[in-house]
Amino acid sequence: MDLYEHQARQLFAEHGVLVPPAEVTDSAEEARRIARRLGGPVVVKAQVKTGGRGKAGGVGLATDPAAAEDAARRILGMDIKGHMVRTVMLAQPVEIEAEFYVSYVLDRAAGTFLAIASAEGGMEIEEVAAARPEAVARIPVDPAEGVTTAVAARITEAAGLPAQCVDALVRLWAVLVREDAVLVEVNPLVRTAQGQILALDGKVTLDDNARFRQTRWATREATHDDPLEAEAAAKGLTYVKLDGEVGVIGNGAGLVMSTLDVVADCGARPADFLDIGGGASARTMADGLNVVLADPGVRSVLVNVFGGITACDAVADGIVRALDSVRPTKPIVVRLDGNNAARGRALLDERAHPLVRQAATMDDAAHQAARLALTADANAS
Ligand code: GDP
Ligand code: MN
Repeated sequence: MDLYEHQARQLFAEHGVLVPPAEVTDSAEEARRIARRLGGPVVVKAQVKTGGRGKAGGVGLATDPAAAEDAARRILGMDIKGHMVRTVMLAQPVEIEAEFYVSYVLDRAAGTFLAIASAEGGMEIEEVAAARPEAVARIPVDPAEGVTTAVAARITEAAGLPAQCVDALVRLWAVLVREDAVLVEVNPLVRTAQGQILALDGKVTLDDNARFRQTRWATREATHDDPLEAEAAAKGLTYVKLDGEVGVIGNGAGLVMSTLDVVADCGARPADFLDIGGGASARTMADGLNVVLADPGVRSVLVNVFGGITACDAVADGIVRALDSVRPTKPIVVRLDGNNAARGRALLDERAHPLVRQAATMDDAAHQAARLALTADANAS
């Protein structure tokens, strides 16, 4: 789970890494009051879980409270790489003398952590890394040893950072270990004109396996940026939103994965991954259908079920019940096979809904769903 910048900087502050004073709000009027409280000019920063805010116009400098309100009004509601800005952070600006890049990241392939650091931090770090990889130091960190003062000194030397950064490096490692993070990134870590080392930005990714004790951040909003994903999660469904036009529902991750492939083979794009799981009830099926039909990108739905523990008649019953509550406007193709398939098919035939059709095989079902999705414009009234 990724944290917002203001959450990351809170963790930094708790571990003794210096950050400029700041406050967060979702209102432009409140931004003006915050700027007044902070006193003097402020930096207004979009709070979205993606980088490159500076380049996208999501970071602005305001010289007085009225300008802070204007900047907040401009930035709130902005779309940055598909992320809608709902809150801004106002921070006291600092006079930057040098910008550094530092991060700790889990290196799964090497089975260790990696410290990545550069004396050329800031908004151009990607370009620096691509054009002159030697300007970015990569130093393995033994997880058992961690970043001691000696290790931090090696990192600063390799990256050409001033020795003053050692303390911040040790403290940022504590953030990683104590807060169950798999990524801690600061870009820029700056040296101010007054010679202080401050974190001006922060990205922290928590280990999802530690979520049981990271309840502090585990809100629905923080976990699922997509409202449909949040709704599906609240209903206990395994749902991932994709960008296509064929809604996909199946039982078992493997079957759903192959259904996505078959839909793509038919020239259409899947709109989601939704696994109703083994032993799924009629209730689960109805919930799943509700979520998929609520996606405005969906033009047809493909329900692909191989009945094992989940009997096909329970699935068919779920579909029939969902049809009563959602009144679909999109065609639904159902393929039922396996346990109690005959009874399931009969239930659907009996309901005889004009938008529901059945297919005998997975390939046939995918072809029908793809054709319906791709000709949906022609079919619409
Ligand atoms: P990002 O573009 O999403 O990584 O957002 P950052 O928080 O890194 O901000 C982008 C850039 O804005 C930084 O590289 C800094 O150069 C600048 N910036 C951010 N905060 C301050 C500040 O307090 N004072 C000054 N002078 N510049 C800042
Ligand atoms: Mn940054």
